[in-house]
Amino acid sequence: MQTPQVVVVGSANADLVLDIDHRPAPGETIIGSDVVTTPGGKGANQAVAAGKMGGSVAFVGCVGDDDHGALLRDSLASAGVDLTQLRTVEAPTGTATIMVTPDGENSIIVSPGANRHVTPAVLEEARSSWATAPVVVLQLEIPLESVELVATQAAGRVVLNAAPAAPLPARVLAAADPLVVNESEAAFLLQDAGGESRPGQPPGGQNGERDDAARTAQALLGLGPRSVVLTLGSAGAVVAEAQEDDGGADVAHVPAVRVEAVDTTGAGDSFVGALAVELAAGAGLAQAVGLATRVAAVAVTRRGAQTSFPTLEEVGRLDA
Ligand code: ATP
Repeated sequence: MQTPQVVVVGSANADLVLDIDHRPAPGETIIGSDVVTTPGGKGANQAVAAGKMGGSVAFVGCVGDDDHGALLRDSLASAGVDLTQLRTVEAPTGTATIMVTPDGENSIIVSPGANRHVTPAVLEEARSSWATAPVVVLQLEIPLESVELVATQAAGRVVLNAAPAAPLPARVLAAADPLVVNESEAAFLLQDAGGESRPGQPPGGQNGERDDAARTAQALLGLGPRSVVLTLGSAGAVVAEAQEDDGGADVAHVPAVRVEAVDTTGAGDSFVGALAVELAAGAGLAQAVGLATRVAAVAVTRRGAQTSFPTLEEVGRLDA
């Protein structure tokens, strides 16, 4: 395979999804539905989303020698993702047990398993895959030291999806171009930095909310990344880019595509994967967010995570 344009370093999990009628109380046993097992994990999701865009994509991560590991390998391979650096280790493949109550709310237990083996030592051995890739994609479901190693030593552009929310060293944030977060992850990072979580909340209304999101994105730029993408669910995303010359910022709102959402699981991951491929193809950040927005819009109209992600051709149909 040619040198991958996009290398995703991150987690791979089997999602074990079951419906329950209520959350069990301490000491209570309840009966749930049959378990549906699907391939997931933020890293693998983003690699599959990028692969389905037709990008040349490699995934660096760890799975166990078990059925869940095989499920993930199959899903990644069928999206055309290079798996040369997907290791099989002596630990169970990571799982996310996702319990869904009738109100549609999730309660999730992540068991990292093999993802704990994505250590700096393992990544040193895979260095040739990520060190010179044009775009490297990271999330926070592997050890933080590993994220730090790759973020600070990759020569290419680092797309950092700071999810799930966790405190990040300044030098990791400074490497991000862009930092991609949703609203709750943004609030967490700003609070962790000692600032207001939602600076200057204006009165309600759509414009007020958008101004507020623009201010949040600018506040995130103040934490050091070269650019920021703040995702807002059905309200789209805000893109903020630092201006080299005057220290100011270019801020733009990209609206979401109006669709009938049936399952938003993995929307954020499909967005990040598509964004990375478009950046690797040389697009500007706002243009890449445009494609990411259209990809995520298709993903939310279908059930599941990786299984819901569209090909480039299917995204084209959305425009028709
Ligand atoms: P998730 O955790 O559900 O994967 P997230 O919280 O990381 O998602 P969101 O901000 O909810 O991220 O969504 C990411 C992007 O997906 C949005 O910026 C938007 O482009 C698209 N999106 C999400 N929900 C919808 C929706 N209901 N309709 C259209 N697009 C949506």
